[in-house]
Amino acid sequence: MTWTLTNNELTPKALLNLESLFSLGNGYLGVRGNFEEGYRPEMVSIRGTYQNAFHDVIEIPYGEKLYAFPGTQQKLLNIIDAQTIKIYLGDDEEEFSLFAGEAVAYERRLHLDRGYSERTVHWRSPGGKEVKLHFRRVVSMTVRELFAIDLRIEPVNFTGRVKVVSTVNGDVSNFADPNDPRVASGHSKRLQVEEAGEKQGYVYAMDRTLVSGLKTACVSRHTVSGAAEVKSENGETVLTFDLTEPVRVTKWNVYTDTLRHRDNLVEQAIGIHEQLGGLTFEDVLDAQKTYLDDFWANADIQIEGDGSLQEGIRFNLYHLLQSVGRDEYSNISAKGLSGEGYEGHYFWDTEIYMFPVFLMTKPEIARQLLIYRYSTLDQARARAKEMGHKQGALFPWRTISGTECSSFFPSGTAQYHISGDIAYSYIQYYLGTQDDEFMKTYGAELLFETARLWLDMGHYLNGEFRIDNVTGPDEYTCVVNNNYYTNVMAKHNLKWAAKAYGLLAEIAPATLDRLCARLNVTKQEAEAWHQAAECMYLPYDPALNINPQDDTFLQKAVWDFENTPEEKYPLLLHYHPLTLYRYQVCKQADTVLAHFLLEDEQELETIRNSYTYYEKITTHDSSLSSCIFSIMASKLGYDVKAYDYFIETARLDLDNTHGNTKDGLHMANMGGTWMSIVYGFAGLRLKESGLSLAPAIPGQWDRYSFRLQYRGRKLAVDVDRQSIRLTLEEGEALTLKLYGDDVTLQHNRPLEQALKAN
Ligand code: BGC
Repeated sequence: MTWTLTNNELTPKALLNLESLFSLGNGYLGVRGNFEEGYRPEMVSIRGTYQNAFHDVIEIPYGEKLYAFPGTQQKLLNIIDAQTIKIYLGDDEEEFSLFAGEAVAYERRLHLDRGYSERTVHWRSPGGKEVKLHFRRVVSMTVRELFAIDLRIEPVNFTGRVKVVSTVNGDVSNFADPNDPRVASGHSKRLQVEEAGEKQGYVYAMDRTLVSGLKTACVSRHTVSGAAEVKSENGETVLTFDLTEPVRVTKWNVYTDTLRHRDNLVEQAIGIHEQLGGLTFEDVLDAQKTYLDDFWANADIQIEGDGSLQEGIRFNLYHLLQSVGRDEYSNISAKGLSGEGYEGHYFWDTEIYMFPVFLMTKPEIARQLLIYRYSTLDQARARAKEMGHKQGALFPWRTISGTECSSFFPSGTAQYHISGDIAYSYIQYYLGTQDDEFMKTYGAELLFETARLWLDMGHYLNGEFRIDNVTGPDEYTCVVNNNYYTNVMAKHNLKWAAKAYGLLAEIAPATLDRLCARLNVTKQEAEAWHQAAECMYLPYDPALNINPQDDTFLQKAVWDFENTPEEKYPLLLHYHPLTLYRYQVCKQADTVLAHFLLEDEQELETIRNSYTYYEKITTHDSSLSSCIFSIMASKLGYDVKAYDYFIETARLDLDNTHGNTKDGLHMANMGGTWMSIVYGFAGLRLKESGLSLAPAIPGQWDRYSFRLQYRGRKLAVDVDRQSIRLTLEEGEALTLKLYGDDVTLQHNRPLEQALKAN
């Protein structure tokens, strides 16, 4: 049950959300769950296919454009559509549609364990012809360019001529909504057909973007199980046959693009088709299953006691895998490859919410995410200069190819913490893998350059190092001095830059010399990083014993929550930003998030008081919030709250609780679900002192279990109502902390201990 998402709704509103839920992808290619045959003309559908990072460049229009406002932004493009297959029955050519005639039976399924989706339909045409249709589609995890659709048509009371018209359509546009800041407001037509036609039995289209000059191609071919007449013209393949027994038509689509395949896109796609040779659709499904077996063996979280949550968790993990980029050009956009919300941009969501999942379950993907950021380091250096800094790297708030795409600086560029977040993920990677080679080749350089940014932008006042004019994660409070989150992340960044310097001096002095010569880093500079970290000012209010979000936060009036009706949420859609900035009201976890990421910076009581304080004024209008409150509620022993917040995250898209699932899935929240369990209920932390766990079990569950990858080892964690069982399934003996005490695990010798109450 919980491996399969099943649905049979056909109302227009449900269908739009289901397009996102049933999307398929492999990190490179993503296809929304649209119906092959289409919809009624008046129905809204976001028909989408995406190649991760495939974008156009668009001028940002400003009424008043000030210095260093970004002039252009990137936009992920909806590319060539190969989803379309229309079916006509009989000599009178009755067109199959689920919105005409009668759907005698209809169901769609997404198989999370097997990596494909299917629709089964028993259809009676308005004229009474009955057929059964079975659509299956797969975006291959092993051949990243491949998207295949398999259609089986079975006669029920109708036999006779059937015409199948399958298209490859390069004349496509993006979706736009001028009234929602989370969706693009215009610039929907960015691709032009450069070539389309037939070549060596294939139909193809090749498009070019208007400005970035990138090209994308889709080359398709069809295989049919029986005798059929096949004609291809103008990107259309028409297959005609007599239906007397079941017939199968398989449409094989191969996508290429100039970012990855450079040139000769059509020829290269044909080459891939030829390599696939005599592969059957079942062969592709088998390979998919093998890939997913391996993924789930490491990533699955099993929960006994709640089927719908189990479904939610698997669904989230599956979509994370479908969305994560695996090359230096791509990352994970806020909506993955499931929709166009946030225009396909990559945010800090990756480092703080999704990266941890991969680090602990598929570290090779985590590494690739870091490399993507590294590949944009030069742009981050240039941006720092443009922003008036003498040195350092300022990463963009939102981007695809590495330059800042945010036109609204108060909650865009001002979120300098992105550089600290990226540094944090590099440090976590090092702690989780102890990959010295990576530190030598990429890590140290990134830590040095981000540390330099803080040193340049901050300043000393009365011996304290302070950081002015930034925005923390909470986008309802902008451009402030000494945001606690930013300062504490900068402190960590500075401390680790100095540490990395020391580490390289010890293990690879020649590498350090070369790096320092190239970057012009001196020992004195490394000492200055350490010094700034030591002196970092962290706002603290002794009367409340909390960490104020920033220097002036506590001086503001508290938002009038009592008189704010339900329909005014999310506040960002109903109030001018300046109104929001004037009040103590948080869109999302900010100081509370800092207390999760760097918990040793404060006493437990300060963390507890802060949690209570911010909880009252946080709206969770961002989907990045509830999971953090869940994790912290777990830490503080607020079990009911921990579970309530967790529920908010686990089925957010499945139940469309934020009302915008149609624009794509909330990927950070999906990572947050995993974190709520592993960091929240099981209390995982990854620090310099090693790995630690402090498991509890929600009252609603009988048992839960998951696996972790840690420094070349595989660890299984199994928690039931009485005890915790740890098994080192692979790798050398491991000492970790369980409830604060050292325990040592030997290979395949499970350790069992009673659960401790919080
Ligand atoms: C959140 C940001 C987040 C962005 C993309 C916004 O609503 O406030 O923190 O990065 O969405 O998910």
